[in-house]
Amino acid sequence: MPFVVSPSTDPRAEALIGWYRENARDLPWRSELSPYRTLVSEIMLQQTRAVAVIPYFERFLAALPTIEALALVDDETLLKLWQGLGYYSRARNLKKCAEAVMREHKGVLPRSVPELRRLPGIGPYTAGAIAAFAYGEGAVAIDGNVLRVASRLFFEEGDIGDPKTRARIEARLSEMLPSGMASDFGQGLIELGAIVCVPNAKPKCEICPLAPYCEAHRRSLETALPNRRPKAKRRVDERTVLLVRSDTSLLIRRRPNKGLLAGLFELPSLDGRADERKVLAYLRDLGLEALRIEPAPPSKHIFTHVEWHMTAYSVLIAEPEHQLAEPYRLALPSQLAERYPLPSAFSAYLLPITRPFTEINK
Ligand code: SF4
Repeated sequence: MPFVVSPSTDPRAEALIGWYRENARDLPWRSELSPYRTLVSEIMLQQTRAVAVIPYFERFLAALPTIEALALVDDETLLKLWQGLGYYSRARNLKKCAEAVMREHKGVLPRSVPELRRLPGIGPYTAGAIAAFAYGEGAVAIDGNVLRVASRLFFEEGDIGDPKTRARIEARLSEMLPSGMASDFGQGLIELGAIVCVPNAKPKCEICPLAPYCEAHRRSLETALPNRRPKAKRRVDERTVLLVRSDTSLLIRRRPNKGLLAGLFELPSLDGRADERKVLAYLRDLGLEALRIEPAPPSKHIFTHVEWHMTAYSVLIAEPEHQLAEPYRLALPSQLAERYPLPSAFSAYLLPITRPFTEINK
């Protein structure tokens, strides 16, 4: 698209948009812009890098091509489509958002930031992204990439986790925003943060279109910014994970509907470091008869606010004759692949699970 510059266009914005149009990566949510595609991609991109999101985005859009399809999808299919991306509450909120759009906006995502903000799961960044990228509204979408670029460009020394710093940055970017170019301006900032003004000690100032205007670059202090208050230390939870198999199936249970990994299926586990005696007592309470028990390798999984340090036991049980009570069930290997999304927190144990049980239990 030709880039017609008005005499009043901020030269920094002009440089940024020109660079973006020349250098933007070819990403599937950019090749065909729509409010729904922007919504799905931005929610997926919240915790995951663009390159990693591509296959998930394409699979999701192929299965759920419209906001109506998303509103009607059952939870198990939804979570299965999300499997591997983690942070499953994002998927649930996405569905709640689609339901609200069907109910309150006749299936069309609203275009103004205030209306978008009233939808479930839509924060200030996603609202700005949909308004600016998909509708071209004069909004600035501010994520971590944009905060980094802007704090270096303006030499903003405030803590970027502080809403006052963010408001200052938003005001200054809004002053730069050229009329009718909100989409390329906003995406340009994000793209620059993703591939040029990258974190830590590696900004590529020598190829940056903002270098002539960048205050941090002028002072050779690029890597001193952004400032961010150190994060609180993560809590460590010790868990004892149980790989309980019969000759045909694996014991899983559904997590509660609130909290971490809400509603997902998981390998059962006990709090702390349980010994064999405790594990056997636990299984007895479920009416399961253990034939053999042995330790399995430990593993670790890091969530945003908590780390699971897992020890594990592999247990062979006799084929039970009774139906297990909720939230437990025995799943066949094919059901694990197709029906029950197990979170990646258990990925250290997922590979052995996909092998035939008879082989594992030898
Ligand atoms: Fe970032 Fe360097 Fe560009 Fe400044 S000149 S915006 S520090 S890459």
